[in-house]
Parts: sequence; structure tokens; C-alpha cells
Amino acid sequence: MTAFTEVAQPHVMTTYGRVPIALERGQGCRLWDVNGKEYLDALGGIAVNTLGHNHPKFVPAIQEQVAKLIHCSNYYNVPGQEQLAQLLTERAKMDKAFFCSTGLEANEAAIKLARKYGVDKGIANPVIVVYDHAFHGRSLGTMSATANPKVREGFGPLLEGFLRIPANDIEALKKATADNPNIVGVMMEPIQGEGGLHPMRAEYMQQVRALCDANDWLMILDEVQSGMGRTGKWFAHQWAGIVPDVMSLAKGLGSGVPVGAIVAKGKAAEVFKPGNHGTTFGGNPLSMRAGIETIRIMEEDGLLAHTTKVGAHLKAKLQQELGAITGVVEVRGEGLIIGIELNKPCGALLNRGAEAGLLFSVTADTVVRLVPPLIMTEAEADEVVAKLKPLIQQFLAE
Ligand SMILES: *Cc1c(COP(=O)(O)O)cnc(C)c1O
Repeated sequence: MTAFTEVAQPHVMTTYGRVPIALERGQGCRLWDVNGKEYLDALGGIAVNTLGHNHPKFVPAIQEQVAKLIHCSNYYNVPGQEQLAQLLTERAKMDKAFFCSTGLEANEAAIKLARKYGVDKGIANPVIVVYDHAFHGRSLGTMSATANPKVREGFGPLLEGFLRIPANDIEALKKATADNPNIVGVMMEPIQGEGGLHPMRAEYMQQVRALCDANDWLMILDEVQSGMGRTGKWFAHQWAGIVPDVMSLAKGLGSGVPVGAIVAKGKAAEVFKPGNHGTTFGGNPLSMRAGIETIRIMEEDGLLAHTTKVGAHLKAKLQQELGAITGVVEVRGEGLIIGIELNKPCGALLNRGAEAGLLFSVTADTVVRLVPPLIMTEAEADEVVAKLKPLIQQFLAE
């Protein structure tokens, strides 16, 4: 046994409350720390490591790309951008993509696009509808769209132009927007990831789609966490049979290489003109290759169907093993984004999980979140449950 001790980082800003381990290498859904201790990965780098670690098809492609060309700037055409844009737009039934590097950057682009859409048709002070429990990022724009006061407070004035409403209540949306000529769009996560794993109901998303069509508002979906196969479809909104006007992606898109995107349809795809938006790193040859290879490998290996199957297995097993424990409020989710809501704050479980060799996260204080690599097997899912059950049982008995 190795000691479970603090890892000192005196020169790094203390922006994170970290689990005191340092990871060194990974293989599939396993990770090893600098002391050689093994962990089962039910976090996937927060829904980022789509293909797990050291994937035998992904790594050689990335190595080849690094040797060829990493970055060249958007002064020049990057063929990979057209390739990845085509792969994404075909799968989303949308028209055009813009590439960046992170989730907040994608949402920032979506917000700018929606505002410009409004300004172009004469709305000087555009307003975007956002939701209780929403998380869209930590830039000044995206944190203003975010609900959590812990994210928003302490930084002075927030950005104006957001109107917040409760989820899954079409009457609340109609009432809040009635007679407001400044609304330009409605922005939501199909499954709120950081906000506690709250899904938007399919019927509600269809109602919002219809309302957006009727009022010429853009329906903007933040699929940074729920997209790229996480729920067993390419994008979580596809369960509701709708198509948004704008969708943001990041996290799982590059299997660990930073890549973000917005994908847009119809009029929304034509809003940005040369000079309106840009970013230095966005769409570089390395990140484009990571996105292209992620999609190629997901298809070759049937990972959408696999995610649906293993996710259903994991959720059923969690419901069966944890459902009857006093203090377990609900097990919910779709595919391999699963939340286990407890009746008390459970951040303390993170360190205990790591000690027991299991990595996961806690979101909205009381929800254990499992977002493992999409390659996780049923046997590994069973192992997650076997490790998690005693941790939760003991914690709730305290
Ligand atoms: C993680 C996340 C973001 C922010 O992404 P970053 O890459 O951390 O900026 C935005 N929206 C959702 C839904 C997320 O899960």
C-alpha cells in the first residue's frame, strides 16, 4: 500500500479543491498515480476522455499528426476544419461549424451569434432566455448565463441580457417572454451537467422548438457535456427528435485534446461575417485530427450502441443496488451520464472514492456524477457499482 498524502503545489494558484493524488498514466478505463496505485475511471476527465486512455487507434493518429503539423493559425485554410465540420453537421443535420478550444469559448460564440442575430434585425438590446441550475462556463459572458451564485459572485457587474426561468415549464417561458420584443434566443443544456444532472423533458424541448419557430428566436443547445455520444445518441437533443439552431460542443469532442465547436443551422449559420469572431488556437490541425479520429473510432467501434447498452446496465444496477438505501434520493441519467442524488452534501466522497480506487465527481453538492469513458465495459460498470455501494452506504449511515 502507498501512502495517501497531500501533493504539494505551492506555485499553482489554488483554484481547485483537489483530491490529493497525482495521476501519471492510463490504459482504457484504468489510471495509475505517481505511486503506482490503480484507479477505475468513472469520471473520464469530466466527460472528456471519450475513448478512455491510450486508445490503440487514437494515439497513433495523434502522434502522426503531431509530427506533421500542430498549429498554423487561421490565416490559412486548415483542411481538417472542413472535414470535422462535415462530420458534425451531417450527424447533427445542421449546416456549418466554427471551431474553438473549450466549452466556455463555444458558448461565448453562441451568445455572440444570438446577439448579432438580434441586432441584425433591429433589436438593440438582445436578451437570451437561460435556466435555473444552468452552467455554461466561467467567462464573464458565460458565467452571467450560469445560475450558480458560487460561479457568479465576487467579480463585479455581470453581463446584462439574460432572463432566467425554471426548466420544463412551457407556461413559465411564455409568461416570462410575453410582450418582450428583445428576446433573441433560448439557451439550455438538454441534461444539466454541473447543475445536478437535471434533464429537460423531450416534450418540453419540442415545445420550446415550436415557440422559437413561432417567434423567430434561436434555440441554442449547450451540448458541451451531453453531446458527442454521451447519452447514446450523437447529441442528447436527438432523443427529443428536434434540431436546434445553434449547438455548442467541447468536452468529449477531442477525446482529451482541447477542441470546442459551435454548429449552426439555416439563418444562424450565416450570422458571422469575416472579422466578427475568431480565436488563435481554434481549429488547429492537431485538434481537428483529434475530433475527426474520435468520430471515426466511435463509429468503427459502435460506441453509440455500446454507450446505450452499458449505460442502461449501469443505471439499472445502481438502481437495484443503491435504490433501497435510505438517503439515496434518485438514480437518473441517460447513457453514460448518470447522477446519484443523495439527501445530503457528499463532496467528502471524492477522497474516499480515490482511496478505494474509484474516480468520479460530485456536482450540485449532493449528486454523485458518473461520466466514464464511453468504452467502459459492463464488467467495469459492475466494478464501479461494487466500489461505490459500500462508500455510499457507509457515508449515509454516518
Ligand atoms: C464543462 C461545461 C462548460 C464549460 O466548458 P469549459 O471547457 O470548462 O469552458 C459549459 N457548459 C457545459 C454544459 C459544461 O458541462
